[in-house]
Amino acid sequence: MTSTSNRKEEIEAGQPESGPDEVLRQALLLLRESSEEDFRNLMSYVDGIARTRHQKMIAGWITDWLSVGNPGGPFLTRIFKGTDVNVVRNYVANMIAGLFFRDQEIFNRLRNKYGFNPPSVMLISPTMRCNYRCEGCYAGQYTADDDLPPDLFDRVIGEAEAIGIRFMPVLGGEPFVYRHLLDVFANHPRVSFQPYTNGSLITREIAERIVQLGNVAPMVSIEGYREQTDKCRGPGAFERAVRAMDILRDAGSLFGFSIRVDRSNVDYVTSDEFMDLLISKGAIYGWYFLYMPVGRNPDLSMMPTPADRNKLRIAVNHFRRTKPVIMVDFWNDGPLTAGCINGGRIFFHVNHKGDVEPCIFVHYASHNIKNCSLVEALNSPFFRGLRDMQPFSYNALRPCPIIDHPGVMRSALKRWDVYPTHEGAGKTFNELREGLDEYSREVERIYDPIWEKEYSWGEEWMKVMDHPPEKVKARKRAYQARKRRVLS
Ligand code: SF4
Repeated sequence: MTSTSNRKEEIEAGQPESGPDEVLRQALLLLRESSEEDFRNLMSYVDGIARTRHQKMIAGWITDWLSVGNPGGPFLTRIFKGTDVNVVRNYVANMIAGLFFRDQEIFNRLRNKYGFNPPSVMLISPTMRCNYRCEGCYAGQYTADDDLPPDLFDRVIGEAEAIGIRFMPVLGGEPFVYRHLLDVFANHPRVSFQPYTNGSLITREIAERIVQLGNVAPMVSIEGYREQTDKCRGPGAFERAVRAMDILRDAGSLFGFSIRVDRSNVDYVTSDEFMDLLISKGAIYGWYFLYMPVGRNPDLSMMPTPADRNKLRIAVNHFRRTKPVIMVDFWNDGPLTAGCINGGRIFFHVNHKGDVEPCIFVHYASHNIKNCSLVEALNSPFFRGLRDMQPFSYNALRPCPIIDHPGVMRSALKRWDVYPTHEGAGKTFNELREGLDEYSREVERIYDPIWEKEYSWGEEWMKVMDHPPEKVKARKRAYQARKRRVLS
C-alpha cells in the first residue's frame, strides 16, 4: 500500500499512481489534446451508453451544453489547455472521482453499519484569523491559539478521505494566514482542496507551490468592481484580488471566484460585463452566496430581497447558456441539489474549534471532533434528524431552513441537544424572527409559480437524488393544507 508520505512525494514529483484514479487521469490527459468536436463525439458515445434515468438526464444536459454555439466546448478548452497538466491530473481528476465515481465499497459499509451515505463534500475552517475586516463577516478578532492545531486539521481530513470525501472547500478566516495550509494539503494528494481567499497573500511563490501540488484550486473573493469590493473588504481589496487572479493564471493554476451578493452589489455582479472581466482574468468557475444574516451582527437590510435573488437566478441561467465558465448559485441551485444539502446529506462544516456544524451558516453543533470521530458526528441524532427532515419543501427553489423555512430551523434547534458555536448564533432565529418570516413568505410568493412553470424536471430529479416521492408529495400536501388554512 502506498504510504501518505510516498503519495505526497509522487504528487509533488508528478509521478503516476496506479488503479482507477490513474485511468481517469490518463483519460483527462488525452482530453488535453482534444478539440471541441472531439468532446462532442465523446459525449454522443456516453449518451448512447447512458441507461438509468439519472444518467440520461445528465447526459442530455451535457450534450446540450457542448453543442455548437453553446459554451461547453470553449469551457473544456479553457480547463484542459489553459491550466497546468499537474492540476488537471490531480485537482480535476480527484474532483470528478470524488463527486461522480464514489467508492461503492465505502458506501455499502457505511450504509450497512450506520444507515447513511457518506457526504461528498466537507467544508473546513482551520483558522478564523483574517488580515481583513469585511462588513458582515462572521470572522472576527482571533489569534493563532484559536486555530485548529495542524495535527487535528490533518486528522479530520484523513478521516473524511477514509469515507470517500475527496472535495474540501477550505474557509475561515483567511486560509492563507494559516501557515501549515499547503503542507497539510500535500499530505492528502487524493483530495481536491478549494481555499476561499481574499487573494492578498497569494504571491508568485505560493502560486507555484499550488501548481506543483496540483490538488489545490483557490477561489478569490470579489464583490463587484473596485467600489463594491473595497466597500466590503477595505481599500485596495479589489486591486489585490485581481492581482491574485493574474498571478494564479500566469502560474497555470485553476482558480475561481466567490461572490457574496448583497442588496447593494446585485446589479453589478449579475452583469455580462462583470462576468466577462472575471473570465478574461482566467477564472474557470465560481460561487455566488447570498449575504446571510448570521454571525455577531446579522443585518436583514443587507440581504438581497427575494426579487434580487430571482434576478441572480435569471442572470446565472443566462451565463450558463452563454459564457465558458461554471458557477454555483448556492440557493437558486436547490433544484439541482434536490433541496438543502446540510447535515451531511451532501456537505457539513468543521469549524476552527473542531465543532461539526450542519452547514457553514448554521452555527450550532452537538459534537466536537476533539472528542469523537467524524463518523460519530455524522451519525449524531442532530445530523440524522436534519437529514430525515429533508427536503424542507417540495419546491427545491426554496431549499433553506434558515431563510426559507425559519420556523422549521427554530424547532429543529430546540429539539436536539445542541450548543451555539459562535457568539450571536441565536440572533438569527430570535431577534430576526419576524423579518425572516416575512422574507420567507415573499420567497414563496415569487418562487412557487416559477417552480411550477420552469422546473418540470424538478420532481423527477428529487427522486433521482434519493428523496422518496411519497415524502415530497407529503411536503406538498402539508404546504397546500397550510395555505388553505391561512386563506380561510
Ligand atoms: S441550510 Fe440553507 S445555506 Fe445551508 S445547505 Fe441548507 S439550504 Fe444551503
